[in-house]
Formats: sequence, structure tokens, C-alpha cells
Amino acid sequence: MEELPYNSLREYYAVKYRERVQKITVSLPFTCPHMAEDGTGGCTYCHKGSIPDLNDPQLPMAMQVATGIAAAQKRYGPDTKFIIYFQTYTNTNAPLKTLKKIYDEAFNHMNVIGIDIGTRPDCAGDEVLKLLDSYCDLGYEVWIEFGLQSANDDTLKAVNRGHTARDFIDALKRAGKTRLKIATHMIVGLPGETKTDYMKTARLIASLGAHAIKIHPLYVMEGTALGDRYKKKPFGILSLDDYIEVLADIIEILPPGMIVMRYSSEAIESHLLAPNYCKPEYKAIIKQMLIAELKKRGTRQGFRV
Ligand code: SF4
Repeated sequence: MEELPYNSLREYYAVKYRERVQKITVSLPFTCPHMAEDGTGGCTYCHKGSIPDLNDPQLPMAMQVATGIAAAQKRYGPDTKFIIYFQTYTNTNAPLKTLKKIYDEAFNHMNVIGIDIGTRPDCAGDEVLKLLDSYCDLGYEVWIEFGLQSANDDTLKAVNRGHTARDFIDALKRAGKTRLKIATHMIVGLPGETKTDYMKTARLIASLGAHAIKIHPLYVMEGTALGDRYKKKPFGILSLDDYIEVLADIIEILPPGMIVMRYSSEAIESHLLAPNYCKPEYKAIIKQMLIAELKKRGTRQGFRV
């Protein structure tokens, strides 16, 4: 396996399971408690709760799981193991009984080894954490993902996140008392922020004992409040070179054991206003640029902890 200057998810799974582990992303008709019923409001950059291009939330979950697994097994072999990733909107936003029924269904395939639940820091009460933790009794790997995006409350207000940095800290502390694996999200490039803000956000995440981080460059989509603002008066967007520099700075201060789950975005091209490097084909380019930048510096993850 290629040696990387950071801890990748693939390496984590390869060491732990000695099999290839793939994520199957499902999109269910969950909503977001932070949006109005008609889908308006919410975070200014939110594009339909991040539904992947090919997912149809109206399809039953069993079908989404079976289709995803069949395609992945064809590509990677029959022994491939799977984590079912609930990505779209807020996947804890339902009564506990409903959540249990939905999560239980995810384990119906024998090659499924776990689930990964994307949610908001203010929508994962102790009862939900307890339910998720109960799947660890059965030997499953259970992840919960919390979006922080910025540690700066003024920015959170400006992008209408609807929670504070304190809510995020509280969620991580509560989840940290369980056996759940915790992943966190931050955005680099939110309007009005500078490198000082990005590093503050990364340092907060690094200090809270999360198991993983996803770093996203900001992308502006058609059909969002941010997109409308951008079209009226374009604001500054980080260049690819600047993004790579910030990314390398962040990787250097992350604890050596934290998993870097993601550091590029793959926006739906037909709706992408900016930047260009959030098109899917830039994923490999960003990876090579990051590796080259860290090599040039002679550093790696944890170098400045
Ligand atoms: S919390 Fe997530 S789903 Fe809800 S509005 Fe914000 S980005 Fe969209």
C-alpha cells in the first residue's frame, strides 16, 4: 500500500480488518431539523442536504444497500466488507423507534461490518448515542459524524449553521463517553475567514479526541443562499494553491493517530459555481499536490503537534 504522510481511512481498515472495506452511501428521506418543512433555510451553502448525484432517497434502503454492495463486490471482490454510510441531511432526525428500525435494516447483509451516521451536534441526544452504542455490543463498528465547519461563532452565525462551537464541544464530549468512533467536519474557505480561523477550527477538533476528520474546501452551488450571494457579488474563493498550503498546515497539527477521512470535495458539476477544483476529477490532483507539498516541507501528520 502506498505510504502516505497522513493516516488514511483505507490504511486504517486494511490494518484492522485485513480486507478491503468500502463505504456504501445511502440517502433516506430524512430531513434536517435546521430547515423549514419546505426545505428552505438551513446552512447558506447547503445543497439538498448533500445527496450524492446517483442516490434516490425514495428507494427503499434495502435496495440502496443491495445495489451498492453488488456493484462494489463486482469491482473489489466477494470478500469486500462494508460500512453503510447515512450521509444525506441529518440522519438522527427521527423518533428513536424509527431510527432503530432504519439502522437495524442496514445490518441485513452478512458483509456489513458497521454503520456511519452523519448528523448535527445539536441533534444527537444521549438516547440516540445509547442506541448507536448498543450496536457495538454485536461487534459492529459504529461511526458518528458531526459537522462543526468553523470554530468561529460569528462565522457559524453568518452561514446560518444554527448551532455554536460550544454545542459541538458538548456533542463530542458526550459521544466520547461511548464506544462510538467520532468523525468531524470542517470547511476551509468560508466567507470572511482567514488562515487564523481555519487553524483555530482544526486545533479545536484536534483537541477533542475525535477519531477522524473530514476537511472540505468551500464550494458554492447553484440553488443555495450562498450561490445567490455569489452570483450577485462574487466573493473571494481560495485558489487551489492556497487551499493546498492550508491543508498541509492543518495536517501537520493533527494528532498522529487521527484518521484523515477526506480533504477534497466532489460537488455535482452541473450545479457548481466555484471553485473549479471541487469537480470530482480534482480529487486525485489534490491528493498528489498535498503529498508533494508535505514532501517539500519534509513534514507529515503530527509534525507540529
Ligand atoms: S445541517 Fe446539513 S443538511 Fe442541515 S442545512 Fe446544514 S448542511 Fe444542510
